[in-house]
Amino acid sequence: MKSCILWFRKDLRLSDHPALDYAIEEGYSILPLYIFEDAEAWPMGEASRWWLHHALMDLGEQLDGFGAKLHIVDGSKEAHQTLSALVKKIDADAVFWSRRYEAESILQDSEIKKELMASGVLVKSFSASLINEPFNVSNQSGKPYKVFTPYWKKCREIPLRELTQPDLSKASWQKLEDGLTVEELELLPSLSWDDGFYEMWDPHRSGAASLLNQLGDGRAAAYSENRDMLAESGTSRLSPYLAFGQISPIEIIHALSEVKAEDYLRQLYWRDFSYHLLYHFPKTDKEPLREEWRLFPWGVDEKIVGKWQRGETGYPVVDAAMRELWHTGWMHNRARMIVASVLVKHFQQDWMVGAQWFWDTLVDADLANNTMGWQWSAGCGADAAPYFRVFNPVTQGQKFDPDGIYIRKYVPELSALPNKYIYCPWEAPSALLEDCGIVLGQSYPQPILLPSEGRKMALDAYQAFKNSL
Ligand code: FAD
Repeated sequence: MKSCILWFRKDLRLSDHPALDYAIEEGYSILPLYIFEDAEAWPMGEASRWWLHHALMDLGEQLDGFGAKLHIVDGSKEAHQTLSALVKKIDADAVFWSRRYEAESILQDSEIKKELMASGVLVKSFSASLINEPFNVSNQSGKPYKVFTPYWKKCREIPLRELTQPDLSKASWQKLEDGLTVEELELLPSLSWDDGFYEMWDPHRSGAASLLNQLGDGRAAAYSENRDMLAESGTSRLSPYLAFGQISPIEIIHALSEVKAEDYLRQLYWRDFSYHLLYHFPKTDKEPLREEWRLFPWGVDEKIVGKWQRGETGYPVVDAAMRELWHTGWMHNRARMIVASVLVKHFQQDWMVGAQWFWDTLVDADLANNTMGWQWSAGCGADAAPYFRVFNPVTQGQKFDPDGIYIRKYVPELSALPNKYIYCPWEAPSALLEDCGIVLGQSYPQPILLPSEGRKMALDAYQAFKNSL
């Protein structure tokens, strides 16, 4: 019987898995493999490691149910050698995997493919993580898109890949006795800062299935109405499952086929668009996509960045969001836009500093989405918010958390303030602050600077930058 290695990477699921489906249908005896790797450029953040631990445990258990064993190897920085050694060990005829799109991964995969194919091993890669492959979508001149709406229109004309349902009852497996347990990868944090993660998440496939049900049961239909409200569960929260491939976008699209979910599905195309950009502009994880912005004098003031990271800026909506991130490993999309805008515009800090913090603390950290999100916020990316559009952290709070529920949840020291001042405690009369037990500068920080000052600084910096070009 032919044997193959099925190399799991960011596709930690058994359903809608074209590579697994192919291996079963072609009659291979399969070794399911996971190699723990830490990319050179963006080593996995702490929150992602937490998620990965649980996703691997879950995948291992699911495979176990079908009589298979997930073979786990620690191959940090040497996936290449690890894979070649395993191919020899089981005398594999083939290696199958789902494609990745980050520059470092593409380079690694193409080198491995070349080497294995030269030694007579069949290597096949499959589309499994996106709706459309980034290299299959181009504009009329054959160039990649830089603006979302025409990209999206074009994508809607492309037929969807078929949903695959691998028939695991037909599969036969290769098993190796050695290999690591998930615990031996030591992915969980040594300090227990993850209690809130357990409260918020079921990081298994069952968690994705339950959120998908809620989406179909009304959340998708009410998405446009609720998606921006910070205190509502108006969005799907499927992002970490998508980031680790515990669910595929094609599965989501199929599950929602009977539901009015156009606005929701559009967001999945934003995710694809971010991969389209990262694939075609591979340096943008470190450099602005719009070249002139490489000259913008971004600064880094560690004191300011530290206050922003800890949720001590003195802007309640920003502090609530940064504490939500620390507590749950996730942040609402509207809040991500607000905290990013405040960091790069009011505080004039380098967007890369923010991107790195998100990378470390988000359970859904995703290089393509994170890069696009930060460059969009900083005004230096494709289809970005213009730099002169400076979010006001007070009015954003008033609009998207009108009852102050989100702020009170994560910044409880301000709970007693009436709504009028919850977004701007520095404007509250001192007698009221005293009544509410708040001492600005002690029980809650004074703002790093007033929003109006921040806005002026941002606009002045933009003007000076434009004049210098
Ligand atoms: P929903 O609103 O339910 O959307 C469904 C799915 O569509 C999401 O799971 C996500 O995969 C995709 N999606 C939604 N909004 C966007 C968007 N604006 N851009 C790209 N894809 C989107 N998303 C990540 O997955 N990882 C990141 O590291 C990340 N970093 C970000 C950084 C900044 C500064 C900003 C502004 C946004 C970032 N986003 C990131 C995008 C977005 O905030 C999250 O995808 C979204 O909040 C996830 O919550 P959800 O699953 O409930 O989204």
